[in-house]
Amino acid sequence: MRRLNVRPAQIDECIQKSMFAFSVKPQNPELQPGELLLLQLVKTEANRLGKLRSRIDFALVFDHIEPDHDGMMSRLHWPKENRTWPWIVYGSATVPTIPFSLESLDLSMDYDGQTNPRSIDPRDERLIMPYIQWTLAEVPMPTLQLVPASQVAQTFGQERTLAAIYNHDRIAILHEVSRKTVMVEQFTRNQFLADSLKSYYENRCQICGKDFQPEYGIGFSETHHVQYLAQGGRDVSENIVVICPNHHRIIHATNAHFNRHILTYEYPNGLREPLVRPDHFVKTPQFSKP
Ligand SMILES: [Zn+2]
Repeated sequence: MRRLNVRPAQIDECIQKSMFAFSVKPQNPELQPGELLLLQLVKTEANRLGKLRSRIDFALVFDHIEPDHDGMMSRLHWPKENRTWPWIVYGSATVPTIPFSLESLDLSMDYDGQTNPRSIDPRDERLIMPYIQWTLAEVPMPTLQLVPASQVAQTFGQERTLAAIYNHDRIAILHEVSRKTVMVEQFTRNQFLADSLKSYYENRCQICGKDFQPEYGIGFSETHHVQYLAQGGRDVSENIVVICPNHHRIIHATNAHFNRHILTYEYPNGLREPLVRPDHFVKTPQFSKP
């Protein structure tokens, strides 16, 4: 595992293409396929953005590295940087993290400084791994997930969980742009995104607030895609509601309409039900304020 310093102006391309650029090819040891590269906002920019405690939101999974002899790839991918790099890293995936900073963890050494990339000690990797949200990745690897999606809010708190869900959404939306050539339509839903949202709401219905826990002793809820995936809806949080089974059935039975402007379900008979808990449609995570 390594940490990379990255500036906000560069990061969208890193997330979207799972790419990064180096001035020097990392040696001793060389990068290994599958190795995680933590995208850390440079300190001055993190400070400016109020993200000193959440400098890391994403990690790349290293695949291979290639020289950029004539600077063509550098200019193509980071045109505003007005410079080129001799080495380009290609990742196999971008993985969202629970937002965190290395400085906030009880690590064995200081990973600050300009060195890029900086190797992370294996002892410290173990402390960092729970923050990597493999199950929210586009190709989930649940076996590597240390905290199950259904417990993520109970472990890291609601604000950080919502921020990790938004990190998932940012990757999904950026990747969509580059995937217009996909020929076969696939309506894959990420079960772990659904479970993370249920965890955030503690399985309470966003429409009526129904909580099964007190009466039945278990949390129970369902997720519903506002715009069906088969009709072009995205598998991102802004297209998902967490609801009780009654509301799920009645929304389908009446073909109720979700009015996004007022966050209200509107039924054909005129009944309107505003969300009692609209959080993930309206919130901006506040945890990052220093
Ligand atoms: Zn309900």
